[in-house]
Amino acid sequence: MSVIVDVFAARSDNFGYLVHDTATGRTATIDAPETAAIVAALERRGWELTDIFITHHHIDHVEAIPELKAEFGARVVGPKAEAEKIADLDVLVGGGDTVTLGETSFDIFDTPGHTLGHIVYHDPVGKHLFSADALFSLGVGRMFEGTPGPMWEGVKLMRALPDDTLVYCGHEYTASNAKFALSVDPDNAALQQRAAEVTALRAEGKPTIPFNLGEDKAANPFMRADDAGIARHFGLEGASPAEVFAAIRKAKDNF
Ligand code: ZN
Ligand code: FE
Repeated sequence: MSVIVDVFAARSDNFGYLVHDTATGRTATIDAPETAAIVAALERRGWELTDIFITHHHIDHVEAIPELKAEFGARVVGPKAEAEKIADLDVLVGGGDTVTLGETSFDIFDTPGHTLGHIVYHDPVGKHLFSADALFSLGVGRMFEGTPGPMWEGVKLMRALPDDTLVYCGHEYTASNAKFALSVDPDNAALQQRAAEVTALRAEGKPTIPFNLGEDKAANPFMRADDAGIARHFGLEGASPAEVFAAIRKAKDNF
């Protein structure tokens, strides 16, 4: 009962992920950014696509669904709250639901904010979290549809997962996230260390993904909206974490 995760680049700055259940051979793509990139990864591994797990309705995450479904007959799982925005969903899921890939189970969490119905997929045995645009290394997705309170609640659900969870997010935004994070939390040693690591990785042309959730809990300002030092930076001592989260998000939008 374990999975192998294949990481590859897709489109201009998306990550593509194939998840392969070793017991049964079932293979899912996490989101459907680009047919050619996904098919190339399948061929490189010698895997057959059986499932498509969708996180949210944005075009860079769903565009390849019709082509992949036509070519492989794959089952498409996606957020029930965005069912009317995503064509070809076969199975509708939301927070609290479980979806299986062969012998591997994924718990679904609601992570609204980037989009209202955004969901993430967590494999609690292998400790993999597929967060798409809900959680980036040192950041979170832009709040296009949601409001800060529910978005913060979703971040807290992810923060409650074990420290040794590996996080696979939707985009390589880590370097610019690090610059912003250092501007609001300059004395954070964990953040300084991750920022240096990111600079070195990017200088070598390497991805910063997947990343360790425990390290991100200590370094990502959006995960630390209930930290007194972050509140103080924004002059929000005594404010609710959701208010601080809103201030961080607004500051990042204008950074
Ligand atoms: Zn998105
Ligand atoms: Fe995206």
